[in-house]
Amino acid sequence: MSANPEAVLNAELDIETVRADFPILHQEVNGRTLAYLDNAASAQRPRQVIDAVSHYYSSDHANVHRGVHTLSQRATDAFEGARAKVRRFINAGSDKEIVWTRGTTEAINLVAQSWGRTHLGEGDEVLITWLEHHANIVPWQIVCEQTGARLVVTPMDDTGQIRLDEFERLLGPKTRMVALGHVSNALGTVNPVRDVVAMAKARDVPVLLDGAQAVPHMAVDVQDLDCDFYAFSGHKMFGPTGIGVLYGRESMLAEMPPWQGGGDMILAVSFDGTVYNELPWKFEAGTPNIAGAVGLGAAVDYLDGIGMSNIANREASLLAHATRVLEEVPGLRIIGTAPGKAAVISFILEGIHPHDIGTIVDHEGIAIRTGHHCAMPIMEHFGVPATARASFAFYNTEEEADRLAQALLKVREMFA
Ligand code: PMP
Repeated sequence: MSANPEAVLNAELDIETVRADFPILHQEVNGRTLAYLDNAASAQRPRQVIDAVSHYYSSDHANVHRGVHTLSQRATDAFEGARAKVRRFINAGSDKEIVWTRGTTEAINLVAQSWGRTHLGEGDEVLITWLEHHANIVPWQIVCEQTGARLVVTPMDDTGQIRLDEFERLLGPKTRMVALGHVSNALGTVNPVRDVVAMAKARDVPVLLDGAQAVPHMAVDVQDLDCDFYAFSGHKMFGPTGIGVLYGRESMLAEMPPWQGGGDMILAVSFDGTVYNELPWKFEAGTPNIAGAVGLGAAVDYLDGIGMSNIANREASLLAHATRVLEEVPGLRIIGTAPGKAAVISFILEGIHPHDIGTIVDHEGIAIRTGHHCAMPIMEHFGVPATARASFAFYNTEEEADRLAQALLKVREMFA
């Protein structure tokens, strides 16, 4: 299931070998070879993931946990085996700490509702940052409305980095939870999560990290990070859609009430009451996305085969190249210039609406995203309604970045 080991050449990847694993990349769009630069929205799947899902449906599918027949046992083994792979991948201490969800959004909602409704009250504060995706804002707003708690927002500077001094000041006696993104999807900023966790821990405040944009691009070790919750999505890390993960520290999950009720999350039900299942199944009501979990397990194998440090190195050099060639486009302004960014370049072209940019470069076969990137407060900070965003994965090439720069020159000519 892992990538061809020959694809790994010391710290460098053999890009052509890696690209051969991704069938979708080998097609023409509008008469040009596809250049897929929208990986922050959703990445593509290698054949190993597609094959694992197909094999599961062709050979092993049945419902999990409740069956004594062979297929049900095979499906359960594949499903729980994938959980163990994810646990190893992020170095969680136990499979009990890996809860399957539909994605990052559902994982954060789970914590906001289960933990939040139990622990938040009138006047309590949830501390987030200006850099959050809506998925790490709205669930907290909802639970604040339900409980009388208040959302407090750490400001950021004009490079797109959070103001740590302000964070420390805002982390007060009423702060009950700190929730922030590990990496910003809109700007690529890698947040100083170790400092944040250390400050929060010093005051006994739990920390949730939104890892949707970190897990696909760098090695993540939840024990080393010392966070209490870590949320991420399968589809951004080369796995299926509709599957994601909530890592929760066992001691936290153990005392949290179930979020949704139904089958699989119970040990015994009577009309007098219900005994809930053990971790992690207490949080997994109903038939889960079994094929999604199996596919995510295959994605983890694939990433392990390449090596997260090789991926991080490759993307850092891609980002450096892409930044250089895009900066040469007259009138282009990069939004988000923090040092040590992930491979995301948000930009605007003077006088041209980002949607026009996106549409025109699509004619050249180049897929980028335009809009507010589910981070409207960030757009507001920079005084723009939207940006164009190129986001890279390890299978992208310097040549694709060059093609984008050339297409942007054409866009400028069209609007001259
Ligand atoms: N957080 C961040 C930082 C994201 O980039 C995204 C997806 N754009 C999400 C949360 C939400 O992820 P999902 O839609 O997979 O639940």
